[in-house]
Amino acid sequence: MAIIVLEDKCIGCKLCLKACPFDAIDMIEKKAVINDKCVACGACLDACKFDAILREDQGAAEKDLSAYKNVWVFVEQREDKIMPVAIELLGEGKRLAKEIGVELCAVLLGEDIGELAKDCIAYGADKVYLAQHPLLKVFTTDGYTKVISELIQAEKPEIVLLGATHIGRDLAPRVAARVDTGLTADCTKLEIDQEDKKLLQTRPAFGGNIMATIVCTKHRPQMATVRPGVMDKAVSDAGRSGQIIEVPVNLEKKDIRTEVIKVVKSDKAMVALEEAEVIVAGGRGLGKPEGFQLLEQLANRLGGVVGASRATVDAGWINHDHQVGQTGKTVKPRIYIACGISGAIQHMAGMQGADIIIAINKNPDAPIFGIADYGIVGDLYEVVPALIDGLERVDD
Ligand code: FAD
Repeated sequence: MAIIVLEDKCIGCKLCLKACPFDAIDMIEKKAVINDKCVACGACLDACKFDAILREDQGAAEKDLSAYKNVWVFVEQREDKIMPVAIELLGEGKRLAKEIGVELCAVLLGEDIGELAKDCIAYGADKVYLAQHPLLKVFTTDGYTKVISELIQAEKPEIVLLGATHIGRDLAPRVAARVDTGLTADCTKLEIDQEDKKLLQTRPAFGGNIMATIVCTKHRPQMATVRPGVMDKAVSDAGRSGQIIEVPVNLEKKDIRTEVIKVVKSDKAMVALEEAEVIVAGGRGLGKPEGFQLLEQLANRLGGVVGASRATVDAGWINHDHQVGQTGKTVKPRIYIACGISGAIQHMAGMQGADIIIAINKNPDAPIFGIADYGIVGDLYEVVPALIDGLERVDD
């Protein structure tokens, strides 16, 4: 993208000349002029105090922002089932669309998935862009990127949301690059700026120590991926009506550089942490891998599953599927019982949305007590068996 100088704004101060590492600016008649040594590094843009230097696309993109309308949600389906995160995004998308005063549109790709389009409407979509083709039956980066990018370029949505799943994390940056916009990955909160209606995209930054709110000011659409389990799911209403738009798919085998020969599912049992109502999670305070067997007994009693801190996963005591937190899963159970977990910010980022947090820790100053609804100061190897025992007596 070329760099351009706005002659009427340039005052000939030479700040850009000094900042340019490539000797790519000449002063001609007291105006900066970019010469052919320019590599578009942007150093002059930062140096200019008079907004007199732009990237060539900036002016154009700014002019066109009003052409972009509606909130889109990429409805990820696998084996003809809508992924839970897509239902969460339809709920969140509906809220955002209402605040801006626009429509919520679902984007659904696959083969023979007409029924799912109706589900999208029941979950709140006003319109469903339905792209069906044998080459879209299973996800391929090339195929999905091409179809969605072309649709964005044709229809110009204002906001595009995708789940931060393996597929969403692969697809979103490709699409963003193709349509020449930015992307905020792994958001945990989305809001609308009440003044200018721009999307405020919040995500953990700097190792989870701060929350950064990112705004896409000059490009459209505003694109974000959102972590599964963070937003509330939309509630289905079979009585809703909406429009299903069949998208003509212009896709050939040669457009897709990979071929999916077979889908092999992992045979290790997956933990449905994001769906669980009760999670009993263990940390380094367990002291040994066998400690998780005790937690499993408590979880079974409560009809829940076992979660873990990263310290235990890193120690090889339990599989990464169980990890809760910034680099693990974001969970929202009704009850979260943290056993021997200190409450590092990166762990809390993944579980603070739980309705009730119960912490068991022998250190009364452990940070986890700061967010716990109920705190038990004590040795987990005494407290957890006592809880199991108590529950057994209640059941009897
Ligand atoms: P510790 O901090 O060592 O805490 C152990 C606790 O157990 C202590 O509070 C202690 O008082 C208590 N205890 C000891 N013995 C007993 C006992 N017998 N009974 C009761 N209590 C006892 N962490 C995550 O969990 N998830 C993440 O996704 C994650 N992502 C990260 C990403 C980045 C970029 C970074 C830098 C770190 C991340 N971490 C994550 C690591 C995080 O910073 C902490 O190191 C980790 O959460 C600590 O785990 P812990 O609470 O089990 O261990």
